[in-house]
Amino acid sequence: MNQKIALLGLGTMGSGMAANLLKAGFALTVYNRTAAKARPLVAAGAKLASTPAEAALDASVIIGMLADDAASREVWTGKEGALDAVKAGAILIESSTVSPAWVAELARLAAQRGAAFLDAPVTGSRTQAAEGQLTFLVGGSSDALQTAMPMLQAMSKEIVHMGPVGSGAKMKLINNFLCGVQAASLAEGLVWIERSGLDPQKAVSVLNAGAPGSPLLRAVADRMLRHQYGVNFLLKLMTKDMRYAQEEAAACKLELQTADSARSLFERAIAAGYGEQDMASVIEPLRAR
Ligand code: NAP
Repeated sequence: MNQKIALLGLGTMGSGMAANLLKAGFALTVYNRTAAKARPLVAAGAKLASTPAEAALDASVIIGMLADDAASREVWTGKEGALDAVKAGAILIESSTVSPAWVAELARLAAQRGAAFLDAPVTGSRTQAAEGQLTFLVGGSSDALQTAMPMLQAMSKEIVHMGPVGSGAKMKLINNFLCGVQAASLAEGLVWIERSGLDPQKAVSVLNAGAPGSPLLRAVADRMLRHQYGVNFLLKLMTKDMRYAQEEAAACKLELQTADSARSLFERAIAAGYGEQDMASVIEPLRAR
């Protein structure tokens, strides 16, 4: 395949996504603030750029997979940012979970350079990124999506076109609002189970088999039970998503009271030192009496 792709951000998600682009045969240049994380990808055939602009030079599709608005802004528009090098006709894809307000601004900046823009955040986590089984929630034009389709397909099991620019970002925040609330109430439920004298394993099996047994609950309850917080999704990033969700809902004149409660538990966990661990560790401060 002769199309050149750039992927900016090689964290938990970006690394897996890049590996699948390489597997599918795309010519891939990667950039990461911490360059050492690119080593396995370079060994697998990726080119390493030392700045976002260098990665974007010559790329027809440039994908961002960064922590938050600040990281995305830095990599796209900071010193030697990718936007400086974007050529007319390229497609920018922002796959990070960022605010719809930043997405709208980035889309305008892309348009000023004659580039198309898609917001395409993902559902799925570390395993799905590594296995090319993500779901993309896409906002933007059908034409741009059609062109980007082969690359997105290399990383995903499903691509949902939600509507115009910003629709993917909005959908993703609604999705993660519901995930965050579930994880927080699960943390409270599990501590209750542990203190009540019930057999935690048996109690979680009942929950998993019953109405509360969502995929989120099934994945996170097990990590909470085992006290295993190897990172699938950083707790600090879930906290960020709850904040963006609250801000976005407020723009729709809706107060997310359950998000507020859940976020306060996540913030408590950050204060207790769990920000860099998996979001399942939100339970730990509740366990401490
Ligand atoms: P991560 O492992 O923390 O990776 C974050 C990436 O952003 C890294 O490449 C990091 O670079 C970069 N970064 C952070 N701050 C930066 C800055 N100021 N300037 C430049 N680069 C910066 O996060 P992730 O789990 O891959 O998540 C990436 C995005 O996908 C986030 O928006 C997250 O909310 C979303 N997401 C995550 C999951 C999940 O389960 N993990 C699922 C769906 C969506 P360094 O390596 O140098 O730190």
